[in-house]
Amino acid sequence: MGQKGFFTDTTLCIGCKACEVACKQWNQLPDDGFQLTGMSYDNTGHLGSSSWRHVAFVERPVPLPTQTVGLLDFSWLMASDVCKHCQRAGCLEACPTGAIIRTEFDTVYVQPDVCNGCGYCVAACPFGVVDRREDDGRAWKCTLCYDRLGEDMTPACAKHCPTASIQFGDVDELRERAQRRVEQLHEKGLEQAYLYGADAENQPGTGGLNAFFLLVDKPEVYNLPPDPVVPTMKGREAWVSAGWGALGMAVVALGAVLLGREVVRG
Ligand code: SF4
Ligand code: SF4
Repeated sequence: MGQKGFFTDTTLCIGCKACEVACKQWNQLPDDGFQLTGMSYDNTGHLGSSSWRHVAFVERPVPLPTQTVGLLDFSWLMASDVCKHCQRAGCLEACPTGAIIRTEFDTVYVQPDVCNGCGYCVAACPFGVVDRREDDGRAWKCTLCYDRLGEDMTPACAKHCPTASIQFGDVDELRERAQRRVEQLHEKGLEQAYLYGADAENQPGTGGLNAFFLLVDKPEVYNLPPDPVVPTMKGREAWVSAGWGALGMAVVALGAVLLGREVVRG
């Protein structure tokens, strides 16, 4: 079946939110209350159990180098965020029931009929993607339209994006396309353009992402972690530290016993 994923080129996004709507419509997700945050024109806020795509509006008093217009130096960075379908997925590694699986498309899928709502996956996702629904407590997130992939269809968000900001396909091919796009932008003077999470070399803490991004500012500006790490990668280091700690305590205890004997003899 091959490794399927998304390449999201944020420089092409116009913030129309067609991807959010298409995702909700196909997956029958409820609205989020249409609340404005007061911090942005964005009315979804963040990814959650009922928002599997979220288009961030990053309003900055900084012009893009190619768009400086003098008095109105300002830019909006639009970015459609989603589950990254990580190569090393913290959610999958933390799930104690086997509800989260890797599919034949190399995507990460939560089986709703197996999830018991324990929430371990929520804490283990370094991107804050997976979320529990208030009504049933179970964990939900983007499935990369698993049901559509099975029918050889494009995921709803990519299908409906009018600017091709969201591109779907084989991950290897997407990576090559993304690299060409970065070079093209550099040639046009947008030297800040780079890929976030394109492969393991680029993001060792997750082994690379099957849904990666082209950004033009620091990851934090887009509410993405600069150095995400799957919690289990820290497991070995934690056990080694604990071992050294235990050894140190044993040496101190032994020293205290020997010293005590000397004092009694003396
Ligand atoms: S982004 Fe989070 S929820 Fe998505 S696969 Fe990675 S760890 Fe799991
Ligand atoms: S549909 Fe495409 S252009 Fe519109 S908000 Fe989503 S990613 Fe941006």
